[in-house]
Amino acid sequence: MTGPGRTLGILGGGQLGRFIALAARTLGLKTAALDPSASAPALQVVDIPLVGSLDVPAPAKRLAELSDVVTLEWELIPAAVLEEVAKIKPLHPSPSVLAVIQDRLTQKTFLTKNHFPQTEYGKVSSLDDLPNHPVVLKRRTHGYDGKGQVRITSPKNTPDAVALITKPCLWEAVVPFEKEISVILARDQNGQTSVYPIAENLHRNGILHATLAPADIPGDTAGQAVELARNIAETLGHVGVMTVEMFLLKDGTLLINEIAPRVHNSGHYTLEACQTSQFEQHVRAVCALPLGPTEAKGPAVMVNLLGDLWKNGQPQWEELDATPGLTRHLYGKSEARPGRKMGHYTVVGPSASAEWRRALSSIQQA
Ligand code: AMP
Repeated sequence: MTGPGRTLGILGGGQLGRFIALAARTLGLKTAALDPSASAPALQVVDIPLVGSLDVPAPAKRLAELSDVVTLEWELIPAAVLEEVAKIKPLHPSPSVLAVIQDRLTQKTFLTKNHFPQTEYGKVSSLDDLPNHPVVLKRRTHGYDGKGQVRITSPKNTPDAVALITKPCLWEAVVPFEKEISVILARDQNGQTSVYPIAENLHRNGILHATLAPADIPGDTAGQAVELARNIAETLGHVGVMTVEMFLLKDGTLLINEIAPRVHNSGHYTLEACQTSQFEQHVRAVCALPLGPTEAKGPAVMVNLLGDLWKNGQPQWEELDATPGLTRHLYGKSEARPGRKMGHYTVVGPSASAEWRRALSSIQQA
């Protein structure tokens, strides 16, 4: 799909969809997006905003009819909806990729079957299925930003654990990681891939707090991480941007944490730091346009702005905005709630290292 007058449809209207739409518009494409909320971030910026449920086929079919190519910013759309869309217009990533990713257990089974390294895990139907070592109990679907998971040492029957296992769950052995990293890559329809500088991620309460790129890791570790991510994208036959989150252990071992078949919060730094942002690259891949260069102009640090910052009214941005090399984004969300991602900022260039030190010390104090 090239040229003006063509329409990219996006399933989901959050901030990821908003940035995909803005990138598509820069490339001269028309955009449509579907979300249950009329005020969703992406619906504010697309040519054709559609309000409707993502859980039933009819609204998604309408989006497909109005679009030339369809993509998504949220991977937990029911398979039946995705299959209906794919019957009408090309959908990238395809329903078969999402079928592997959507359920954490299916995703882990895929990794095991293809010999990708990961922590020990098991299916949980009742608390009796939990082993006697520390684990993270996770919902198999609909867990994100630390939601739907709880760390369990002992006893096992904490109220959080009891509440979680009302839905299908799995356990993972707790990984004593040194660092968390993510590899963001794009794979086009000819199987060509392009990879971004690796991101190093700091989480607070299970939510991404800050990202440093390039990650402060040895070159051969970075090479292995890229190789793993490329092989995963190829094995899945993925088209579009894909993010592979990994744990790095002290001895240099890499374990896959999870695969996101889409643009990712840890790739927001690419908006300012790279010639082609992850969002533009995704549009290029799904619309069969050539992939762009991914080198970074300099070191970058991205910090999320969560709803907690609004607890005493509008935050004062003056000091932040005075930082050299800093760009601040807000996503147009009208209601700030604790833990809700309202925006982020990125610092590119010499000020990035001071910003990363600040992020590290804020995590240590938390
Ligand atoms: P997830 O949504 O599964 O990526 O989990 C969110 C965050 O929780 C991760 O980025 C880690 O910081 C932490 N976490 C998740 N699973 C594990 C694990 N098996 N061991 C240690 N930390 C974990």
